[in-house]
Amino acid sequence: EFLYHFAALAKMEQTFIMIKPDGVQRNLVGEIIGRFEKKGFTLKGLKLITVDSDFAERHYADLSAKPFFNGLVEYIVSGPVVAMVWEGKNVVATGRKIIGATNPAESAPGTIRGDYAVDIGRNVIHGSDAVESARKEIALWFPEGIAEWRSSAHHWIYE
Ligand code: GDP
Ligand code: MG
Repeated sequence: EFLYHFAALAKMEQTFIMIKPDGVQRNLVGEIIGRFEKKGFTLKGLKLITVDSDFAERHYADLSAKPFFNGLVEYIVSGPVVAMVWEGKNVVATGRKIIGATNPAESAPGTIRGDYAVDIGRNVIHGSDAVESARKEIALWFPEGIAEWRSSAHHWIYE
């Protein structure tokens, strides 16, 4: 039993999910958290926080050469965001599917961006694009660390 659970937990991944200022202003926080919760993923970190430009630039450092970079930074600092860590099997890739394509014009209905966004520069939510970027983003946003707990529903979600 112990080894069985250990093996299952070893495969667990974490991702960084952020509800952007438009998602907070549009009262989509509960809806978005509900989608990840109901899927079966586990909430491991959560805070409402307003970041400054320096911090937003660090989060989006990989995009610093893009023409939309300054506008993107202005958008992210424009109000509080909800920063979260979610855990589960394949949560990085599955989280991206739940979120939908970057441009809401191409996000499928049923995805968060497909259901709640119109413009690429107001697309409601961020999710890490790889396990390695998730690790970096979690370290950036949660230097204080995250909760250690295991859901009592675990064995109802994982075989
Ligand atoms: P994501 O991983 O799906 O969020 O997409 P990217 O990492 O490529 O881009 C980060 C964020 O920058 C996106 O979520 C958008 O908010 C914004 N963004 C990306 N491409 C564009 C663009 O062409 N125009 C504008 N205005 N914003 C963009
Ligand atoms: Mg990205």
